[in-house]
Amino acid sequence: MHDRTPWTRGATGNHVIKNRTYKNLTEFSRPCQACGNPFSIFVTSKIADGLADSNSFGLKNCEHHRRNKSAGDTPDVEIVRMENNVMRQELEGLYSTVADLTARLAQYELAPAMHAAAPQNKMPWE
Ligand SMILES: [Zn+2]
Repeated sequence: MHDRTPWTRGATGNHVIKNRTYKNLTEFSRPCQACGNPFSIFVTSKIADGLADSNSFGLKNCEHHRRNKSAGDTPDVEIVRMENNVMRQELEGLYSTVADLTARLAQYELAPAMHAAAPQNKMPWE
């Protein structure tokens, strides 16, 4: 888990990053070590609440002052990683919704299916 002491938690909600809107992200910001200007990262609620870590918390410099840019800290990679996290969380939610709906749908499909099957099971005197 990265040290979050230098980071200030900001607003949670919709954030527009590179012309796309992301729902339910929490902004964290800190001053750049080189120029002192604040810069932000955006993380999912799970990460914001400390249930998961993000490499973004290891960033010390703003976009302009990141020397030795490694694959781990280019803004594009950070955004892709964040998108991946958001999509994974959304998918987990969708999977449980689908399971829920499938279970509920079974109730409605079972009765007609039994009615449809019934004539074949008629007793000879019916
Ligand atoms: Zn800077």
